[in-house]
Amino acid sequence: MGKILRLILGDQLNAKHSWLSQVNNEYTYVMIESREEGSYAPHHIQKVTGIFSAMRQFATTLQSQGHTVYYHKILYGTEANLRSILASLAHNYGINKIELQEPDEWRLREDLEKLEDQGFEISWHSSEHFISSSAEFQDLFEGKKTFLMESFYRKLRKRTGILMDGNQPVGGKWNYDAQNRKKLPKGHHPPPPFVPSTDVREELEDALKAKLPTIGKLDDPEHFYWPTTPDQAWEIFEHWLHYGLHSFGDYQDALTTKSWSLYHSRISFALNTKMIQPLEVCARVEAHYREHPEVPLNAVEGFIRQILGWREFMRCVYWHRMPEFAEENYFEFKRELPKWFWTGETKMKCLSHSIEQSLQHSYAHHIQRLMVTGNFALLAGIDPDEVDLWYLGIYIDAFEWVEITNTRGMSQYADGGWIATKPYVSSANYMKKMGDYCDQCSYNPKTKTEEDSCPFNALYWNFFDSQRDKLQTNFRLGMVYRTYDKMDTSVKAGIREKAQSLLENINEL
Ligand SMILES: Cc1cc2nc3c(=O)[nH]c(=O)nc-3n(C[C@H](O)[C@H](O)[C@H](O)COP(=O)(O)OP(=O)(O)OC[C@H]3O[C@@H](n4cnc5c(N)ncnc54)[C@H](O)[C@@H]3O)c2cc1C
Ligand code: SF4
Repeated sequence: MGKILRLILGDQLNAKHSWLSQVNNEYTYVMIESREEGSYAPHHIQKVTGIFSAMRQFATTLQSQGHTVYYHKILYGTEANLRSILASLAHNYGINKIELQEPDEWRLREDLEKLEDQGFEISWHSSEHFISSSAEFQDLFEGKKTFLMESFYRKLRKRTGILMDGNQPVGGKWNYDAQNRKKLPKGHHPPPPFVPSTDVREELEDALKAKLPTIGKLDDPEHFYWPTTPDQAWEIFEHWLHYGLHSFGDYQDALTTKSWSLYHSRISFALNTKMIQPLEVCARVEAHYREHPEVPLNAVEGFIRQILGWREFMRCVYWHRMPEFAEENYFEFKRELPKWFWTGETKMKCLSHSIEQSLQHSYAHHIQRLMVTGNFALLAGIDPDEVDLWYLGIYIDAFEWVEITNTRGMSQYADGGWIATKPYVSSANYMKKMGDYCDQCSYNPKTKTEEDSCPFNALYWNFFDSQRDKLQTNFRLGMVYRTYDKMDTSVKAGIREKAQSLLENINEL
């Protein structure tokens, strides 16, 4: 045992961290599978197993490089809390100094700070992963009621030089989002996603024996298909660069039952556990574009914006707005999540497909999360705490800093518009325009108040009607209210009645 403990969390698997550049036996690297971390939400079984597998392989790599590692498996001992396990270890070996990388989650930071009260000498170090720092944007955020991602993104493009020609954006425009909204053409089949294969039977068995509260499926633990090492993550990414990037932009928002990941990269798990680094990913995409100028710029810019823009932005918002952010509930919604969110058993095809896919793969792409499940939850007035818990558990990439900002902020507008300039809601129109779900649904997307009318339609108008005092002055919603106000009084009454009945029978939809 070295004289100093260095904690590495399950989402700090950054093999390029400067801590690891030299072997020094003064340090013992501590990695802990804790019951508390495994159960603060009902996590998807693929998420728990994937994290254990990635952590165990990371520890083995460190050991093979000569580092001293103490690895605490989930089934060791009875202590549940990560800090307590760490503190007991330090006490047992008479160690007083503990070094930590800054956690991404508020909850963990707060808890680990208590080590100081327990008499330990602690020091904080950067996780050396993110491109921006909260401090860099503190002044820009201070005193603002809203802050646009776009300004943040442009600043980072200029600072990093990513996708820039001198001080101008490549192609002359900063953002090509308007070109990224196509439906999949009829007869178009995206290629099957490239997947690695890892044997995670041992990790699965441990998670099951530990009786962690899990959801979802893991059908074939001998061939686990999420990356659990940096090499696997890069392999997936390189394959996607050649076979996915060209159509990423066009079909980024498409909704289909034909493919579970379309042209999306599926690298969020590897990024969020820090197996790969965001700046390297962006630079690799840009280099590929410079070597292959035939790749559409709307795809390249669109992808880089997700990482350099949205991902970095969400992290800065998180640290700027927590802990109050986690309490926000602008519309004061209190309804329980329908039971079928946990099973996918609903007649609404868009929801049954997106939820079943999430239970099957621990994955849904952005528009499924935002415009299908998130859209329904907001229109139905579900308590944001319930919505957060579901998103935090079900997705393999869900870690609070990026889950809560997307869910409570972008999707549920529970922050009153700090992140999104208007609520992301739609009627069946959008779903029909962007995909093939409605063609396979037992509800009718075209009507509002009939027996078989799509529930999204009445709920959509009812939402704007019932939230008028909070939304009417939003300049982006003028058109919505003008359209609603032109409706006949009897139509409006029918919508209210229909919405009421849908909400009363929400578990039967
Ligand atoms: C309600 C809701 C909840 C979400 N929860 C999470 C979450 O828990 N964890 C998470 O990583 N992402 C979350 N997202 C953002 C986004 O949906 C996922 O990052 C993306 O679907 C991951 O799949 P991918 O790697 O194939 O992404 P791609 O579409 O290929 O995009 C590439 C990368 O860009 C980043 N990215 C894209 N959009 C966002 C965004 N809005 N915020 C932050 N990063 C983004 C991700 O790192 C992603 O891997 C959520 C979005 C919504 C609407
Ligand atoms: S008709 Fe409505 S419920 Fe059915 S798939 Fe379309 S949007 Fe979803």
